[in-house]
Amino acid sequence: MKWVIFRVREDTLTINDDDLLSKELTCPLISFTTRCNLRCIYCASIQPGYVARDFDLKNLDYLLEGLKSYGVKLVQINGHGETTIIPDWPKLCRRILDYDIGVSITSNFSKKFDEEEIDSLARMEWIIISIDTVNRELLMKIRGVPLEVILDNMSRISSRAKELGVTTHFMWDNTLSDWVIPHLEEYVDCGLATGVIKFIFGRLIIHESARNTIPLRPPSELPAEGIINFLQIFDKILKKITDNGGEYYIQPGIEEAINESLAAYGMPPCRLGEPYNPKMTLNERIFQTAVKVKENIISKSSTILNKTPEHRTRNCIHPWVEPFIQTDGEVWPCCYINESLGNIRDRKFHDIWDGDAIRQLRYEILSGNMRERCRQCQCRSWTSPQEQLKRVRELPSNEYHLAK
Ligand code: SF4
Ligand code: SF4
Repeated sequence: MKWVIFRVREDTLTINDDDLLSKELTCPLISFTTRCNLRCIYCASIQPGYVARDFDLKNLDYLLEGLKSYGVKLVQINGHGETTIIPDWPKLCRRILDYDIGVSITSNFSKKFDEEEIDSLARMEWIIISIDTVNRELLMKIRGVPLEVILDNMSRISSRAKELGVTTHFMWDNTLSDWVIPHLEEYVDCGLATGVIKFIFGRLIIHESARNTIPLRPPSELPAEGIINFLQIFDKILKKITDNGGEYYIQPGIEEAINESLAAYGMPPCRLGEPYNPKMTLNERIFQTAVKVKENIISKSSTILNKTPEHRTRNCIHPWVEPFIQTDGEVWPCCYINESLGNIRDRKFHDIWDGDAIRQLRYEILSGNMRERCRQCQCRSWTSPQEQLKRVRELPSNEYHLAK
């Protein structure tokens, strides 16, 4: 066995070959289309140069056999597009279920589903609905979707699930922006009342080239009072979610971006999900200054966030657990690296998902010697190489490797 040893500060970090192997695949993403029926104002699909295309279904069985050999139990049938606009998409679900693989989806729920679609959705393991607000006017403005259509679809799916004797797991996905912050409490109330079990809060990322065309801003770009107001509202709604038996997930990077801004305003850092006190003690200020220097956080510019702090790496397990299969058959290691590891048309799934290219990426993340994309990644927080290695080692193995 080959051992890779190098020094991280005084500690010696040992990475062995097994650390570079894939782990249990939690929920591979298969992108069936990059087309969408909406034109959300912050979406990449409205930017010039965006390519819209569909998955070549000739490759589906080959792919599913590869995933099956890894013991995959669940796939997500969407990428950067809306799967439910594909004609006969419920038949796709049935083809996947025939492999004894469960299906989940992220959808905008913007069209009234017919009975066959409702039946397919009711059988899904979970459904993530992209909905940023329940303020009707704002929802129309941001996404162009009538709230009633979303709620009616949800209600019909719940009724069908009851008939089938299964439970529907709805999640709501919210891209946090200054426009939706004032309506967050009614959003959570409505979600809880309509059976949402988990709320996902995603980061609004605006590329420099789109700054003039997208009017929304993430909470981190608000003035100091705006950030404090957001933190108070956010703390209240997170508490409400958990008090009512719900769960939430906050995309990594949101807290870091806010803390950069707070540091630039000379205020103490926050921890999302905990009450925020903007009043600093002297000790806190000294501590914060030390952190600022150590982490090289000197302004609120988002580029500063992405400079690799010394001896840090990305807190990211995507390349071990979640392949992202594109419409053209190319396999990406995550949603953010648009570099192909290989194409399912030409190579066996194993040769791609445990091949040299992905092992190289895993090595880079474990060692902290990362490529530009990972250093620039706005969706993963920082951690130490030691913590990252520990986390990877705690992941369960997959059936492909266990069978060998
Ligand atoms: S629903 Fe999703 S893919 Fe479609 S335009 Fe909106 S953000 Fe983009
Ligand atoms: S780009 Fe981000 S999500 Fe993708 S592998 Fe790198 S750190 Fe992970």
